[in-house]
Amino acid sequence: MALLARGFNTRSIEIVGSQGLSLKDLKLLTKEALFALGLDPSEVESVQDGSRPPIPRANLLRVLNESKWTCCVCRRTAIPIVVHHIIQWAQTKDHSEENLVLVCVEHHDEAHSKRSLSLTMSPTRLRDQKSQWLELARTMDARAILGLANAEGARWDGSVRTQFPWRVASSETRRGAVNVLSILSV
Ligand SMILES: [Zn+2]
Repeated sequence: MALLARGFNTRSIEIVGSQGLSLKDLKLLTKEALFALGLDPSEVESVQDGSRPPIPRANLLRVLNESKWTCCVCRRTAIPIVVHHIIQWAQTKDHSEENLVLVCVEHHDEAHSKRSLSLTMSPTRLRDQKSQWLELARTMDARAILGLANAEGARWDGSVRTQFPWRVASSETRRGAVNVLSILSV
């Protein structure tokens, strides 16, 4: 988590972890040694820039959870991810959740390439992609909750049927069941 907060992607975090290195160890290494490990230029910069604080944990967790640890642009799951600043940290010093977006390493590279201003990875497009993905992720969550609610409703209905078979026939009970489901699905 500490390295994610420093702008590391999950692939680099695995590499660093497999070498048994901590952030403290990385800070002692030369630029060349950091590149030799396989770190990206932005990660090397982050390690060597002592003035840059990590992304606050609460903001980091919110971005990761809301985005379901998935790139907001391509939504692929089997690819390393990184927390990216929509407007560069160096420019804004802004670690707020609004300025953060979860992207895969490929889209992160694109965001830092010269093409970024005109194509998918411009700040405007990134904000759009982020809000579209978060909206869809919330809808998926709501559906999952509704699925559970339906299962509960079925069980509840079943037990009513067993214990009070005459009540299931009454329209009042059916309306009650529908109301419970509609409340749960909001
Ligand atoms: Zn992507």
